[in-house]
Amino acid sequence: MLRCEQDGCGWVAIAPSERAAWKQYEEHVLEEHVEQVDDEVPEGHVQVKTDDDEWVTLTPEEASDFHGED
Ligand SMILES: [Zn+2]
Repeated sequence: MLRCEQDGCGWVAIAPSERAAWKQYEEHVLEEHVEQVDDEVPEGHVQVKTDDDEWVTLTPEEASDFHGED
């Protein structure tokens, strides 16, 4: 199950497929965790907070690898 890994966030994806889940996750991150809404996040990308409290912009596929999905 895909879930949000931001501190204190209990969001989980409810989707029929992994692809749909990542779409939901992307929308969730954009709505809830992107602190500055600007043009720096390209269409179809998500921002993910690293362990160093830095935001990186990734594609959903890259974000999947980033989180070390098994
Ligand atoms: Zn979240």
